[in-house]
Amino acid sequence: MGRLTGKTALVTGSSRGMGRATAVRLAREGALVAVHYTSRADAAEEVVASIEKDGGRAFAVQAELGVPGDVHELFVGLERGLKERTGSTELNILVNNAGVMGGVAPEETTPDQFDRLFAVNAKAPFFLIQRALKNIPNGGRIINITSGLTRCANPQEIAYAMTKGAVDQLALHFAKHLGPRNITINSVAPGITRNGNPVFDMPEVVEQMAQLSALGRVGEPEDIADVVAFLASDEARWVTGSFVDATGGTLLG
Ligand code: NDP
Repeated sequence: MGRLTGKTALVTGSSRGMGRATAVRLAREGALVAVHYTSRADAAEEVVASIEKDGGRAFAVQAELGVPGDVHELFVGLERGLKERTGSTELNILVNNAGVMGGVAPEETTPDQFDRLFAVNAKAPFFLIQRALKNIPNGGRIINITSGLTRCANPQEIAYAMTKGAVDQLALHFAKHLGPRNITINSVAPGITRNGNPVFDMPEVVEQMAQLSALGRVGEPEDIADVVAFLASDEARWVTGSFVDATGGTLLG
């Protein structure tokens, strides 16, 4: 029996990257996982198939975040999937992972780009939490993926870092609000972590990025998934409102 047997989880943006690794990890611990995606249905279905092949349980849920009606659409699919499989719409674990990066110099960032970053990265997690609290029972878990860039300068990503600074606030304030319900909420801050970006196919660039961490490598999606799995488990019951540095020591300076 896994540490999360009998639990249900939603991982936003889990068709690829660290969201995928987190969905796989939580399912391996026994949770029934909703694999959320926006455009890549094939990738999400592949994650579900991989979890099921491993003996776990999962289903895919589509919804574009950052647009009107996003949270409602996601919860229609989520509740349908949960009800079919468990007979209830109870959600024990919410992982706010979906996010988009900026990659635009501050001088060139347009108001539309800025609004989009905030809509997907900051507004959507807030309203997902607000909506999910109708389904999360006492003792539930909320984990928000933020970024080491809230503590380490990168001028190409000012607007993006601002969105993640906003995400950090969720753990601080909601932890106090949700304490009486024994619901914990924490931030996990990755450093540079391997994903589908073509830069990770360029060994010399990967080597440069690796030097930014104290441990001399870039992060792997599983490095983050393991931290999330801990925070989702009963072993982390006394941890709430925290900022967990999962950057491999990149923030040490
Ligand atoms: P990826 O870029 O590999 O994957 C992004 C995921 O989010 C996909 O599942 C994608 O779905 C989904 N997604 C993107 N935009 C939307 C949207 N508008 N609505 C719904 N879903 C969306 O992500 P990473 O693993 O690189 O990053 C995951 C999180 O970690 C993000 O919040 C990111 O900001 C943060 N982070 C990443 C770092 C890194 O170095 N990788 C460093 C620090 C933080 P689909 O496949 O359908 O497009």
